Amino acid sequence: MRGRWEETTTAVRLWSFSLFSLALGCGLAGYAAFTLEAPVGQPFQIAWPALAVMFLIAEWLDVDIEVRKEAHTLTFTEFPLTLGLILATPGDLVIARLVVSAIALPLLRRRLDPVKVVFNAGIFGVDVGLALLVFHGLLGSSSPAQLDGWIAALGAVAVSHLVSAFLVATVMRIAGAPVTWRSEVGVIGVSLSAALAGCAVAIGASGALWRDDGGRSWVLLLLIGLAIGYFFVAYMRIRERHQDLATLHVFTTSLAAHRAADEMSATVASGLAEVMRAQQVVLLIPDGERISRVELRDGEIVSDESHHDVDDIDWASAIGLAGRQKTSGGDLPSIAGVTVSDSKNLITARLPLPQRTGLIVVSGRVSSVRAFDDEDVQLLETAAGHAAAALHNAQLVDHLGQEARFRAHQALHDEVTDLPNQRSLTEQLDGQLALGSRLVMLTVRINSLREVNETLGRNMGDEMLRQVAARLRPLGRRSWCARSGTDEFTVVVPGGQEEGDMLAERVIAAFEQPVLCHDVALAVTVGVGVALAPAHGIESEMLLRRASLAASRSLLDGTTVTTWASDRDPYDPHRLTIAADLRDAIPAGELQVHFQPQMDLATGLVTSAEALVRWRHPRLGELRPDQFIPAAENTGAIDALTIHVLTVAAETAAGWHGSGWDLDVAVNLSARNLANANFADDIAAVLDAAGLPPSSLTLELTESVVMTEAERALRTLQRLHDMGISLSIDDFGTGYSSLAHLRRLPVSEIKVDKSFVFDLTTSESDEVIVKSMIDLGHNLGLSVVVEGVETPEVRSRVGELGSDRLQGYLLSRPLPGPAFEHWLADRPIRLRGDAPQGRVINLDHRR
Ligand code: C2E
Ligand code: CA
Ligand code: CA
Repeated sequence: MRGRWEETTTAVRLWSFSLFSLALGCGLAGYAAFTLEAPVGQPFQIAWPALAVMFLIAEWLDVDIEVRKEAHTLTFTEFPLTLGLILATPGDLVIARLVVSAIALPLLRRRLDPVKVVFNAGIFGVDVGLALLVFHGLLGSSSPAQLDGWIAALGAVAVSHLVSAFLVATVMRIAGAPVTWRSEVGVIGVSLSAALAGCAVAIGASGALWRDDGGRSWVLLLLIGLAIGYFFVAYMRIRERHQDLATLHVFTTSLAAHRAADEMSATVASGLAEVMRAQQVVLLIPDGERISRVELRDGEIVSDESHHDVDDIDWASAIGLAGRQKTSGGDLPSIAGVTVSDSKNLITARLPLPQRTGLIVVSGRVSSVRAFDDEDVQLLETAAGHAAAALHNAQLVDHLGQEARFRAHQALHDEVTDLPNQRSLTEQLDGQLALGSRLVMLTVRINSLREVNETLGRNMGDEMLRQVAARLRPLGRRSWCARSGTDEFTVVVPGGQEEGDMLAERVIAAFEQPVLCHDVALAVTVGVGVALAPAHGIESEMLLRRASLAASRSLLDGTTVTTWASDRDPYDPHRLTIAADLRDAIPAGELQVHFQPQMDLATGLVTSAEALVRWRHPRLGELRPDQFIPAAENTGAIDALTIHVLTVAAETAAGWHGSGWDLDVAVNLSARNLANANFADDIAAVLDAAGLPPSSLTLELTESVVMTEAERALRTLQRLHDMGISLSIDDFGTGYSSLAHLRRLPVSEIKVDKSFVFDLTTSESDEVIVKSMIDLGHNLGLSVVVEGVETPEVRSRVGELGSDRLQGYLLSRPLPGPAFEHWLADRPIRLRGDAPQGRVINLDHRR
């Protein structure tokens, strides 16, 4: 913002300089008009009105060139000027030029302000006066029709042009335009060559007229002049459009990057200002119930999140106003807060967002020389289309992010007490244990919770938990506390037995007084259990279980504090064996692969199956993957496991292909697999041996795997993709951070996590999130699978939301190979060969 004082001085300086130019121009022109005689031997003289008309036409056929946001106007006045020098009296030439500048031009260009009129009159005076003086000085007493005349004319035009260009540049600097002498040299270079060209043409024309005595060549010259002028103007317009398209291209590519919604709207606003060469851009962006208004003005972004009532705005007339010549400014004093003072200097366009249309208002052309026209409206509409798509994507990403952050907090915190939950406790412990810290785990089990819940109600029970949490939280500066179970809290402090004893004492003391729940005093009996790291274990899960066991022991024995001891733990040996047994499980044939079908929603055909591993443990019975996959990952057995599953899956799928079924198969990967440099080669070998084409295999990775920045993992993914294998993001939506990565990765599919799907038809937020994920996936060109579909209601909702495929218990649970094929028998299956898509074929006869 410039201060008032500064503005005043600028105005004063502008006026002074303009008046100075006027004085100079009048002086030079007057002196030339009164002292100079017409050149010798003129065959005839062009009268001043004819010259004035020519000047007017030349001014009218102007062309804008823009240098650093400042408009410069190129005219063809050198043509009549040169003609006048050679074929008119100096007095007539001066009069013609000044009539145009003083009367005709201000009328022609309604927008010129007084200081400009004064300055232009001065410039014209300088121009014509200097030209006459230089011309006659160089010509002396020679005839203008000779070579001397040509040189004199060219010299006169060059000098007068340079001097007036210098004056123009000076006045622009005074006005505060960012003109540098360097940029000015470029502009003057162009305009000077145009001036000399105009002069040369005029010399030629006057030569013809001179010999012809002003006969018929007039008409011809006029036509040629008009045609050249017309083509030049047309060329400049085309060039301008071309530049517009180039800036539009830059704009659309700038939208490709992932950004948060507010950042994206700022990018859109400034990009549009650039494309439309406008000073002010206002966006009204609807997002659900909210509408945000983003304004770019003089390079600064102001955004406003408040609720704008869009319906108040008369959209139809706002849009009808776009680029029109007639203004209805009376009915519509402002659009989206932009004052409609001059409808030619303001255009609007719809912002076609899918749910609700927004609005773009663009005003304040940077160069005030030419207003917006129909082609600008078209350009803005095109840009608006791109902007809407980018804004929509950014909004989707934002929603997902908010939801994911909310869920992340929920996932790691207990709803009732807002303390960290079991999962977050384990994660924190793992971190500490990995550093080899000495830690005390102290578990506090509440004896009376169930009783309170049953006799006084859940509300009272919850309040009691909150009160207990409030007493445990401040126990020690270096301690932290989590809710580790329904009736259980765990406090962790650094240290050993001694610290454990001290902490236990404080815990017991904390519950000597009853807790107050909704004005009822409740006595809380607790049992405390202590486990120590590393003395009692170095794995969080084991340590927590031991502390918990010890706490139960305390309650059972009626003692207050128990420290874990191995001779009293009944569970231990079992678990330790899993990791050890896993090594022999594959050779022993204990690992099996089950298959769960996926159905294409558009055709209703079964198109693929996911391979899921099972372990039939000789002593522990059937184990679920989550009971042994982590152990496999930790012990390094995961590579053998994955290759085993893959081998079985590939062989089975090749068998399906043999039966004429076009079924793909999906196999789950672990992050560890990608760290193995030979992994891609191993997969290629397995596919080769089984005779399964790579295009029939999908590998599923979780978002955390995809998040990895490890170069080797990314290289492996790229190689797998290059081999023709599809990559799918499993459990999509449970980790937000990978979204930005998605574009960088050769992924072709996302699998919406089942946790969002179970309550799809009852939870509005789940529905919004699933829809966002499906839309986002499609916008990124990915196909979308929804897993965990258990009911027909969810199935039809998932179809309406646009998912490509589904998987879930509704279709079938994971089944062993033979059972899966049996299941397939009376289902429509996608067939190999030329079977038309979407036709249902009964396969019963195959069996
Ligand atoms: P996942 O990849 O998300 O697999 C889907 C899991 O959801 C499977 O559990 C499947 O039985 C279950 N599921 C499918 N439809 C429904 C449904 O409609 N409702 C419900 N409630 N559940 C459904 P599963 O087989 O216990 O597998 C658990 C996880 O173990 C898998 O999750 C996957 O991450 C991992 N896993 C399974 N097999 C392998 C394997 O061969 N290698 C690796 N690395 N991980 C595996
Ligand atoms: Ca999976
Ligand atoms: Ca999954």
